[in-house]
Amino acid sequence: MLSFPTQSIVAGAVQVQGDLDRDDQCWIEGDSRPNTSLRVTGRLSSAGQGRFYFSGKFAGEATVECRRCLQDIDVEVGAEAHLLYADTETEGDPDIYPLAIGRAGEAVDLRPAIREQWLLEVPAFVLCSPDCKGLCATCGANLNQGACSCAPKANE
Ligand SMILES: [Zn+2]
Ligand SMILES: [Zn+2]
Repeated sequence: MLSFPTQSIVAGAVQVQGDLDRDDQCWIEGDSRPNTSLRVTGRLSSAGQGRFYFSGKFAGEATVECRRCLQDIDVEVGAEAHLLYADTETEGDPDIYPLAIGRAGEAVDLRPAIREQWLLEVPAFVLCSPDCKGLCATCGANLNQGACSCAPKANE
C-alpha cells in the first residue's frame, strides 16, 4: 500500500514499506515498467501546514534492450526519493506533488511520483557487455553468437 490518509500522517510519521506492482493503474502505455514490482521504503512525515514529506528509496528490476544487439537485459534500478506533497494552493510548482483525494479525505499517494522517478532512473542506453559485437548490418545476425556468413567489413 502506497497511499496514506493525511490524517494518519499528521498523527505521527508513517513508516512506508510497500510494493508498486507492474500492473498498477499508475503506469501508462509506453512506460518502462518493473519486471515484477518496485519496493518502496521510507518515512512519510508532516512538514507543517498541509505539507508532507517523503524520504526514502525505491528499487526494482527492469528489462531493457542492449543498444547494440537488441537483446533483453535485466538491470537493477533504484534511487533515493525525496518528495514534497502539498495541497492545491501550491499547484504549479513542479517540485511539489499534489495530494490525492482518497476515501477518507486527502491522502498522500506515492505512486505517481515514484513512477516518475523510476522512469528517470531506468537507463536508456545499456550494453549487454562492454564488448558487445552488435548485429550484422547486412543480415541482422547477432554477432555475439558467432560470425555470420556475410563478407567481413573492410574496417575490421
Ligand atoms: Zn549486446
Ligand atoms: Zn551478416
